[in-house]
Amino acid sequence: MCDQCLHLIAKADNDEFLDSLDLNHAERALLEKLYKDGEESIADLLELQGKALDESIQELSDELVVHADELWKVIMQVQSGDFFQEKFEEAVYNAFMPLFQLAGESEAAGINTDAKWEQENKAAAKFAKRLKKLVPAMNGTTADHMIRSFKRAIETGKTPAERAVLVKEVSKQAASGEEGPFSMTRAVTVSRTLSTAAANGGKLEGWKQSGLVKKKRWRSANNKRTRKDHREANGQTVDIDKPFKVGGEKLMYPGDPAGSAKQIVKCRCTMQAVF
Ligand SMILES: [Zn+2]
Repeated sequence: MCDQCLHLIAKADNDEFLDSLDLNHAERALLEKLYKDGEESIADLLELQGKALDESIQELSDELVVHADELWKVIMQVQSGDFFQEKFEEAVYNAFMPLFQLAGESEAAGINTDAKWEQENKAAAKFAKRLKKLVPAMNGTTADHMIRSFKRAIETGKTPAERAVLVKEVSKQAASGEEGPFSMTRAVTVSRTLSTAAANGGKLEGWKQSGLVKKKRWRSANNKRTRKDHREANGQTVDIDKPFKVGGEKLMYPGDPAGSAKQIVKCRCTMQAVF
C-alpha cells in the first residue's frame, strides 16, 4: 500500500481514538501533538532496531543462519543491549508522561477550580515506573514475532542453502518496515496503547486530586473491534481507589500497564467520574 494511503488510514484511526477521550479544543490540539511525537519517536526507534537486527542476521554464515537457537541469540543481543532499552524508555517517558500530566491537570481543574494539580504525585511516579516495565514486554513481542517468522522460513526451505536465503530475506523484509514488528502499524499500536494508559491514568489521578470524585465507571469504546471482556465491563462502577475487574484481571483504569497485553493493547475504553 502507498505511504500516503497508510498515513491517511492511521490518521482517521487516530482521530477516532482522540475523539473518544472527550477533551476541549486546546487539550485536544496539545494531546494530538504529543501523541504524534510519541508515535514518531517510537517509529524511528523500531526502524533503527529492525536495521540493527538485519545487519547482524546478514552477517551470519549460511551455516549458522538456519539455526533457530543462533537466530534467537542474535535477536537477544540486539534487543537487550542498553542502547535500545534506554532509547525506548526515554522515548516512552518523554512522550507519555506529559500526556498523563495534561489529562490529570485538566480533569482536576475542570471538576474543582480550587484544586491545585500536584505534578509530583505518587501515581505519576508509579506510572513512570510501569512505562519502563513495558519496554521489555514490547521487545519480547518483537522477538517472538521474529523467531516465528524465521522458523517458518527454515521449515519452508528445501536445501540448507535455500533455508539460509529465505531467513535472510525474512530479515530484510522485516527491516524494510512495510509490515511486522518494525512497521509503522506496530508503532501506532504501541503508542495508542500507551496513550490510553496515560490519558486514563492521569484522569484518575486528577479525579483524586479534585477531592470530589467518589467512584469511577468503565465506559467501553462502542465499536465492533471492542473486545468482549471490555464490552462486558461497560458500566462497571467501583470506588475510586479500587480496581475494575476486567476479564479476570484487576485494572485501575483502561490501559493500566499493570494489566496483561491481552487486556490493554489498543484498548480505547475510557472512564466516567461518579460524584
Ligand atoms: Zn478497552
